[in-house]
Amino acid sequence: MSEASEGKTLFQKIIDRDIPGTIVYEDDHCAAFRDINPGAPTHILVVPRKPIPRLVDASDDDQALLGHLMRTAAKVAQDEGVGDAFRLVINNGADVGQTVFHLHLHVLAGREFQWPPG
Ligand code: 5GP
Repeated sequence: MSEASEGKTLFQKIIDRDIPGTIVYEDDHCAAFRDINPGAPTHILVVPRKPIPRLVDASDDDQALLGHLMRTAAKVAQDEGVGDAFRLVINNGADVGQTVFHLHLHVLAGREFQWPPG
């Protein structure tokens, strides 16, 4: 791993192309790439460039960014052809299954979903 990679989160490394990932969308504020272990036929992670660890760590200054992530998730779903049926998930905290501590929205689609989620 290069020195420039040191101290970055896993998702920063993917966004910066330090390590491989299938990036499907990016702009100045965020990027979207395919989940390495998909939980549905479409499973894309929308990730801010800013390494906010968890949703609760976002501040009022991040409000526009959070809205942008939602808009991006919807656009990515449309680009994937699943704009009429997709689920967004944010895991906030290890106790509910968060494993990567860089905020991300899961865009899941292409299969049946249960409610409430497991
Ligand atoms: P969390 O459990 O934190 O909400 O979601 C983390 C997600 O990141 C998981 O769905 C997991 O499969 C995905 N993931 C973990 N490591 C990698 C990786 O190296 N590359 C990609 N593309 N996804 C990853």
